Amino acid sequence: MRLFALLVKVLCHSCDISNSHLTRREAPGFRHGEVSRAARKQHTTIDVFLNTCYSRGMKQTMLLKLGPTSEQHQALLDTMHQFNAACDYVASVAFAEKTANKFALQKVVYGELRTTYKLAAQLAIRAISKASEAYKRDKSIQPHFKSEGAVVYDERVMSFKGLLTVSLLTVAGRVLVPFQVGEYQAARMDAIKGQADLIYRKGIFYLAVTRDVPTPAPEEVTDTLGIDLGIVNLATDSEGETFSGEAVEKVRQRHHALRQRLQKRGTKSAKKHLKKLSGKEARFRKNSNHVISKRIVAKAKANGQGIAIEELRHIRTRTEARLRRSQRSRHSSWSFGQLRSFLSYKAALAGVPLHTVNPRNTSRTCSECGHSAKENRKSQASFVCQACGYTDNADRNAAVNIARASVMVPIVSSLRA
Ligand SMILES: [Zn+2]
Repeated sequence: MRLFALLVKVLCHSCDISNSHLTRREAPGFRHGEVSRAARKQHTTIDVFLNTCYSRGMKQTMLLKLGPTSEQHQALLDTMHQFNAACDYVASVAFAEKTANKFALQKVVYGELRTTYKLAAQLAIRAISKASEAYKRDKSIQPHFKSEGAVVYDERVMSFKGLLTVSLLTVAGRVLVPFQVGEYQAARMDAIKGQADLIYRKGIFYLAVTRDVPTPAPEEVTDTLGIDLGIVNLATDSEGETFSGEAVEKVRQRHHALRQRLQKRGTKSAKKHLKKLSGKEARFRKNSNHVISKRIVAKAKANGQGIAIEELRHIRTRTEARLRRSQRSRHSSWSFGQLRSFLSYKAALAGVPLHTVNPRNTSRTCSECGHSAKENRKSQASFVCQACGYTDNADRNAAVNIARASVMVPIVSSLRA
């Protein structure tokens, strides 16, 4: 008996913006790396698909692992090959005719897709759509499609039969393919949209189904939790709690040493190992960012606070300016952008308002008296006000300033003169 697993992977709606990633849950027994890779690879496809079908909003994508019989497996694979060959054909026509117009293309290619490529009407329409979208993105080249690229299924060619089976139209007719859901997934199956991507990775078929995720209206808050993103402490809030990057740093150092050895070796297997390593580190980083952002949002929610963070584009410049060279590699290997994006979608899902503030002077201004000077910043870790003598952890001091800036509370400046 095959082991089934249902995976839930939430993808952002527009991946180039990539600030609306949703939570990920995995069924026990699932091999982590496999999902991440599969999910990452299908990311682009799904996004394109979502962009064309829905208005902006939060989408959750659940990956259902299918358990087809060997005949069903073959039928799905044949369909996938035909579908992508059809996409290639449509793209060649689009490129030759210099048109991305779906209706114009349909007139020309539809008959061919039905007869030569043996596609069902709905899959033919989807192939036209996929090819047209790809051509539209860059009209200077003729798009090509991998033979095992995703197939878009909609409700006319796919239907769920209860919680355990899905009916899919293939070039060999309809197949009833089993899959298994856990409690978490089962509760969410009803909200699934009538469209899905059929994905094939390492010999396994997945169905990526999407559903709308309701986002509550932001709650009324009277207080703000400021968050300073840093290096030693990945995040520090204005109440002084730190979210350490220690574990992350250990992993990074270990990988760094290993990477150097592998690079020196330079063999084919070393290169393969290197690639694997960078994937591993990225997954670890992502998981840490999930954990940290989740804790921050939960805290703000419990305290009835909004969250304030620095505007993204400033973080890097500002932080790098105060770093020694030796620390830079450490910094650049972390992803503030990801932590920030996780914070923003998790806050939206929880109804916690999130503000971004201009980080100018947040690290060098005294949160007690408002005196702003470079000299206040004694080191990476400590803040000592040159005007009033106030001392604090540098990150916490910055976080307090960020919290204030977000609600336009002017920093008291009476002592400045
Ligand atoms: Zn001061």
